[in-house]
Amino acid sequence: MLETLRSIVQEVNVAKDLNSALATVVERVQLALDTNACAVYLFDNNLQKFILRAEVGLGPAANSDANLAFSEGLVGLVGSRAEPINIENASDYPDYHYYPGTGKDKYYSFLGVPVIHHRNVLGVLVAHGKESYKFDEEAEAFLITLASQLAVVLVHAEATGAIKETEPASTRQVVKFEGVAGANGIAIGEVVVAYPLADLSAVPDRNSEDVGEEIKLFKAALANVKSDIKDVSAKLSEELGLEERALFDVYTRILDDSAIGGEIEETIRQGQWAQGALREVILRHIQVFEKMEDPYLRERASDIRDLGRRILSYLQKTQRSRTEFPEQVILIGDELTPANLGEVPPRSLVGLVSIRGSKNSHISILARAMEIPVVVGAVDVPYLQMDGIEVIVDGYQGLVFPNPSNTLKQHFQRVIAEEQAMVRGLEALSELPATTQDGHHVPILVNTGLLSDVARSLQRGAQGVGLYRTEVPYMISDRFPSERQQANLYRQHLAAFVPNRVTMRTLDVGGDKDLPYFPIKEDNPFLGWRGIRITLDHPEIFLVQIRAMLKASEGLNNLRIMLPMISNVTEVDEALQYIRQAYNEVLQEGHAIEMPPVGVMIEVPAAVYQARELARRVDFLSVGSNDLTQYMLAVDRNNSSVADLYHSFHPAVLKALHYIVYMAHLENKLVSICGELAGDPRGTLLLMAMGYDELSMSASSILKAKSLIRSVTMSQAKLLLDEVLELHTAEEIEKRIDAVISEIGLAEIDTSV
Ligand code: PEP
Ligand code: MG
Repeated sequence: MLETLRSIVQEVNVAKDLNSALATVVERVQLALDTNACAVYLFDNNLQKFILRAEVGLGPAANSDANLAFSEGLVGLVGSRAEPINIENASDYPDYHYYPGTGKDKYYSFLGVPVIHHRNVLGVLVAHGKESYKFDEEAEAFLITLASQLAVVLVHAEATGAIKETEPASTRQVVKFEGVAGANGIAIGEVVVAYPLADLSAVPDRNSEDVGEEIKLFKAALANVKSDIKDVSAKLSEELGLEERALFDVYTRILDDSAIGGEIEETIRQGQWAQGALREVILRHIQVFEKMEDPYLRERASDIRDLGRRILSYLQKTQRSRTEFPEQVILIGDELTPANLGEVPPRSLVGLVSIRGSKNSHISILARAMEIPVVVGAVDVPYLQMDGIEVIVDGYQGLVFPNPSNTLKQHFQRVIAEEQAMVRGLEALSELPATTQDGHHVPILVNTGLLSDVARSLQRGAQGVGLYRTEVPYMISDRFPSERQQANLYRQHLAAFVPNRVTMRTLDVGGDKDLPYFPIKEDNPFLGWRGIRITLDHPEIFLVQIRAMLKASEGLNNLRIMLPMISNVTEVDEALQYIRQAYNEVLQEGHAIEMPPVGVMIEVPAAVYQARELARRVDFLSVGSNDLTQYMLAVDRNNSSVADLYHSFHPAVLKALHYIVYMAHLENKLVSICGELAGDPRGTLLLMAMGYDELSMSASSILKAKSLIRSVTMSQAKLLLDEVLELHTAEEIEKRIDAVISEIGLAEIDTSV
């Protein structure tokens, strides 16, 4: 069954359009289950009905009389219950819907399974038998598995416009793909697919502008490959006899007009560009050959793949760079890298989507610095079929909306306008302090990584750096930076903010932060070797970094050192020992440096419950709410499938945050927060009320936070805190804070649709 399933899925995935994909499904299911009939119904949003979209064995009348209302019939029941129904005798069932006039016998056995994507029932897949029997468990499992794959096909078809072309607008759903927010903001634009060269399966679909030209390019590439193979054959004439060399002729004949070459030309004529047509035809043939029983013929798959790659490489020589771009480009790629940014004119680039990657990937870091919205980890986006399609990128919520309807577009255009107006309105605040109406001042600091963050932070009035992610310069280097290189870089940061403090976090790699020259391969990287655990195991790396920080601070004395991922007091004691060692060394080398304050990040639950013991050992605590949320809720912060569960406003997280302040203050130590929560207006309000001494956030959040703090009183915020600490869910808490924020006339940008 597994093999059958795999081959159906493969066939469906290479189907030309949705109709042929659905026809394949029903035909193959009927065969696989050896049953009399099979059908697929898709849900029509407007009509609130399941519509028969493909069938085999039901007869023609079924097609005209099969519009089942959602609540009507067995099909409707499967859909509304969102679970399979497997019954022996459907006609006994009160909800049975018989197709009168089919001229055929009634169907008795019925197995219906819902086609669900992310909790959304998209359709129902049904198998019928004329005998009265119950489908066995294997058949049920088979259909359920197939339905889950079909769901992906349907969502892809919707996203790539395949449904749009064949369906009335009413049947279309709002398709959105979930990823993770890599950089805030909204962008609307046309997709340009970034794809690696010399990789057949990475070639995107693209409509050709000039069919004749594409055919010419293909023919030229083909001729080049044939001539290369002929050359090889000639070169081997001494080693090989005529008979063996005939193999080369067989090889090139695969490419003849009457064979694959002809099919590729035909596909170009249908509108694909040459590279896309080559990919489509070659992959289809590879699949056919790979399925053959005969091992000799199966081997031919690798010949075809090889020829395909050769032709592709010639095509890519002539079609390498794109010269025309849409005005607003959304660049999408499997794993975007900083180099991909150079493929698009900088002024046209409005948004990015990376299928793989995380909040901490280089692309996210750069995009935040450039203030371009990014969604990362959007693993379900069928990007190869999306070149030229209009999409909306919601970098606040980590969502991608392909082929948006006019209504959806208008909604997001309004959001963009609101956002621009808000930024313009806030510019005047950069010089003003973040002080509440009843005179409580909350220092706003900034999170930095690249030097380019510095100017913007100063412009917006940051009162220092609450988190300098020193791993960023390590990540964009090709080896560990030397002590001198680090010291130079750190000094630029310190000098830019003096006399304000710059909090430098010691190297925090591991988890999702990779150094290309220091690979760490683990099954569970977030629970593995990361942060302080690595640097304590590598004192040579740690000591060099601390020495560089200390030397950089000479004469400026505005350095603070911060330790990431602390989970016990021993780690702090050991790190402090190394810091003292480095300090003594640089003093002995003749530098006149003050011992900087040292702090600990509270990022794991264990550190929360030892906050007091930790505070006793150091000068300050700083909460990394991004990791703390991830570890408290057991939700990977970069996994889009569980993004719905990642809630910094979860009551348990808020209670932990409250507890940390209390413990730090019992020890008279300063406590700050540098996770994303501090820059979320809802978080700003609560954290200020909890008593956090400093809030550190990305530069883009500073003005909004100031505006909010300046519009409220501390007593208002405290009242709100007391109230939300009594609530039981993150949703209720967010709703309550939103209500207060809009009461004070500062409605936050709301992208929800
Ligand atoms: C955090 O975890 O909240 C934090 C600030 O560190 P990072 O996001 O760099 O892991
Ligand atoms: Mg962290």
